[in-house]
Amino acid sequence: MENETVSKNFIEQIIDNDLEEGKYETICTRFPPEPNGYLHIGHAKSILLNYGMAQKYNGRFNMRFDDTNPTKEKIEFVESIKADVAWLGADWEDRLFFASDYFEQMYEAAVKLIKKGKAFVCDLTADQIREYRGTLTEPGKNSPYRDRSVEENLRLFEEMKAGKYADGEKVLRAKIDMASPNINMRDPVIYRVAHMSHHRTGDAWCIYPMYDFAHPIEDAIEGVTHSLCTLEFEDHRPLYDWVVRELEYPRPPKQIEFAKLYLTNVVTGKRYIKKLVEEGIVDGWDDPRLVSIAALRRRGFTPESIKMFVDLCGVAKANSSVDYAMLEYCIREDLKLKRSRMMAVLDPVKLVIDNYPEGQVEYLEADNNLENEALGKRMVPFGRELYIEREDFMEVPPKKYKRLYPDNEVRLMNAYFVKCVGFEKDEDGKITTVHCTYDPETKCGTGFTGRKVKGTIHWVYAPMAVPCEVRLYENLIDEEKGVYNEDGTMNINPNSLTVCQAYLEPALKDAKPLESFQFVRNGYFCVDCKDSKEGAPVFNRIVSLKSSFKLPK
Ligand code: ATP
Ligand code: MG
Repeated sequence: MENETVSKNFIEQIIDNDLEEGKYETICTRFPPEPNGYLHIGHAKSILLNYGMAQKYNGRFNMRFDDTNPTKEKIEFVESIKADVAWLGADWEDRLFFASDYFEQMYEAAVKLIKKGKAFVCDLTADQIREYRGTLTEPGKNSPYRDRSVEENLRLFEEMKAGKYADGEKVLRAKIDMASPNINMRDPVIYRVAHMSHHRTGDAWCIYPMYDFAHPIEDAIEGVTHSLCTLEFEDHRPLYDWVVRELEYPRPPKQIEFAKLYLTNVVTGKRYIKKLVEEGIVDGWDDPRLVSIAALRRRGFTPESIKMFVDLCGVAKANSSVDYAMLEYCIREDLKLKRSRMMAVLDPVKLVIDNYPEGQVEYLEADNNLENEALGKRMVPFGRELYIEREDFMEVPPKKYKRLYPDNEVRLMNAYFVKCVGFEKDEDGKITTVHCTYDPETKCGTGFTGRKVKGTIHWVYAPMAVPCEVRLYENLIDEEKGVYNEDGTMNINPNSLTVCQAYLEPALKDAKPLESFQFVRNGYFCVDCKDSKEGAPVFNRIVSLKSSFKLPK
């Protein structure tokens, strides 16, 4: 029992406590994205945390678009966000909400504050408001409009709503304390005039609530109990609490902050991803080199691997940055037993077996995954002419090189032993063909024990090989220099994408978009969902097989 308490994160401890004290009967969490971009791996943490808490405590999880700012928001983002959240497995059931559906209630809430003498209409300009606000070391000054009567405030606010004022001419402010040490409490603006069309409410409104006022109301309306957000909102919590208290909600929601997820040397901020997209450095929000959810899905990450990653990161109260290698570890772990291990040659060179009958084809049995028999077996064609990896032959091998070189014998995976008997070069000295002989006695699966070889290499049968574009990735960011320069520009790695003309074994010809496989020795690969055609897949490398990453203890 004691162990169980120790292993709980700080949010679970708060929830336990609240339930014990009878503060709430059941819990309700929400994911509240602003529809102004695509979601990224950091959002996945928030989604899985909110959903996970609701599941764990048998509570509810709401999906709510925080669409109170009409300038940057688009329907396109609403749709992509819904798809991403659903793909991650966070089920909001029938609770899909939009903050804009509460505009009327927010307006009523503002009127209530005015009637209580807790809000006033202010005519100061934005610059003046800033001037009056004071600084971290000096208190602010009261607005000259602060003592307007309730009646006058009601009339002016009504007129703001009716469209009588231009943008910026008047605002509604909470009346709290201009001397508060917390600047957020110095009579913050809660409503502004903005003559803008909203993607859902159209021109119904020309006043819009500010985030700090709107968010607690949205939570309270939905019966959210634990409003989980990131650390930058910690200083806004007193205002959150003020709003729910002054509006007298019977079971006020509670804001809890946790640390954002950052990946070292990876661009996560929406604003920066947007910049990469707009400048054409990547080919869209789902470019496989990005860590938007759409990009991770296209690259071949699974929801399970992302959940494993988020769980490993844990929930903390202090910001820190995680290594991308940990994400790679998670996808390798997830795919290891689930995917078939196929043969594909990324940098091909021809291999001819001089003593194998011309024109003869035989089909050899191969295990799909030696560690998981349930994946079954397949038949792979074999014959006189094959492709092997260019790096699997060397004319003059270094010490410890166990693959093909003159007079050396290796095993062709799933097939026979072959011995190198010669090679051809072009005039630039580049190897064009490797010649071998094979020993029919050494056929794989026949239990041959006559002699041993040190190296095993993979291959594909040339006449039936499927030519294919394969893309390999490196970090988009030049890791030596870090992500950002002082002027806000980013250090882009010029080698983040390599395109290979590869050959695949025939079974891969009909692979479907988003299907993934291990290509032996080369890593895990996923069929690109944008650029593949039927019978002509394009493969993206998800991750290589090897890593120096060690799971933290
Ligand atoms: P960004 O900073 O990347 O632009 P955002 O915070 O503006 O993101 P929102 O749509 O406002 O994006 O965020 C929705 C929810 O996701 C919020 O509750 C926010 O705190 C959370 N969130 C955003 N980024 C991260 C992150 N890196 N790690 C964990 N949670 C995050
Ligand atoms: Mg935001």
